Amino acid sequence: MIHDMNDAINYAFDVANEDPIPLMGQFACLTAEVGELAEQVNSAAGYLSHKKFDEPLAGEVADVILAAIGVYTKAYPEATKEELAKSLRANILTKSTKWHQIALSQRRKRDKGIPGS
Ligand SMILES: [Mg+2]
Repeated sequence: MIHDMNDAINYAFDVANEDPIPLMGQFACLTAEVGELAEQVNSAAGYLSHKKFDEPLAGEVADVILAAIGVYTKAYPEATKEELAKSLRANILTKSTKWHQIALSQRRKRDKGIPGS
């Protein structure tokens, strides 16, 4: 039973370890999933209003995350899932802090009416 995001990430690493598809195949899956997400975003923006989807947008976001974890796992076949998950969590926190600062900067520029922000 998955109780939280840590459990979900650990389960995703288990799945990635069991998947026999090699690195480049995983990468091809990632690009395909990014394409499916792009279609959903285009639809949400009103550009593909005729298109029907079997998956919700959240499902495509999950597919991209799972495919990315698959790529990450296959890129480091000697690493344990605990090592990979620890590094991923640390990088998510670091990157979230960086992206947060950028978002706040963009918001301040937008609120001041600076063009291109
Ligand atoms: Mg998908």
